[in-house]
Amino acid sequence: MSQHTALVTGGTGGIGGAIVRDLARKGHRVATNYRDPDKADALRTALAAEGLDNVLLVPGDVSDHDSSAAMVAEVEAALGPIDILVNNAGITRDATFHKMSYQQWSEVIGTNLHACFNVTRPVIERMRERRWGRIVQISSVNGQKGQYGQANYAAAKAGIHGFTISLALENAKYGITVNTVSPGYVDTDMIKAVREDVREKIVAQIPLGRFGRPEEIAQAVAFLVSDDSSWITGSNLAINGGQYMGW
Ligand code: NDP
Repeated sequence: MSQHTALVTGGTGGIGGAIVRDLARKGHRVATNYRDPDKADALRTALAAEGLDNVLLVPGDVSDHDSSAAMVAEVEAALGPIDILVNNAGITRDATFHKMSYQQWSEVIGTNLHACFNVTRPVIERMRERRWGRIVQISSVNGQKGQYGQANYAAAKAGIHGFTISLALENAKYGITVNTVSPGYVDTDMIKAVREDVREKIVAQIPLGRFGRPEEIAQAVAFLVSDDSSWITGSNLAINGGQYMGW
């Protein structure tokens, strides 16, 4: 298996942390961002305890254009050009639309969708020059089917699909594949924040009868960024316990 330089955004979180670990265990040179130095220290300590010493942590806010460019530059200066990019960082700011503030709208669009531009744009040119690359966006089942109280999040996550297929078209001839993974409900801090009675209602809608585990998303991402997925581009891999079975 070839070893590459990978940037995974949002590695201090549940799904991002699992992707970082999976790629690091496979021997890739992995980088991720942090905003909160305490969370970075906690991740460094956890990775060291797991024997993973090939992960670089750099500061970076993916909703900010300049900060993202600086993050990419720091990663490439330390580890070499980025071959694998996983746009994973994301947030929710839920409210029904008639009560949603502009701040709730713009923070979610900024972190989930503008971030795809902010982080991918400084990476893509050198990836095209090297004629090999893997890009994966983490979207959501709610970008496919919509969700009450999440007009901002569903809009951003659905936008990611359009971004993915356009980028896949533009870059196929340069050996770059671009795909989306759309998780259903995965047991991370994002879901732990949901009220217990709402969590129970969600689980009742999942045919496989439980929330997903971050590792179950990480394994799919690891496949999509590997040499084994060389003929998959512009696809959306739904991983949701059967909650949404559209085409
Ligand atoms: P977490 O809340 O556990 O982690 C989110 C990560 O994103 C954190 O590392 C967080 O860093 C980072 N982040 C947030 N905002 C920014 C920013 N502006 N700049 C840089 N990093 C930022 O969430 P999950 O692991 O659950 O979610 C990961 C992805 O999966 C998201 O895109 C989410 O929308 C998607 N998803 C999650 C589902 C779930 O059920 N959990 C379901 C479907 C999709 P910090 O610690 O600094 O906030």
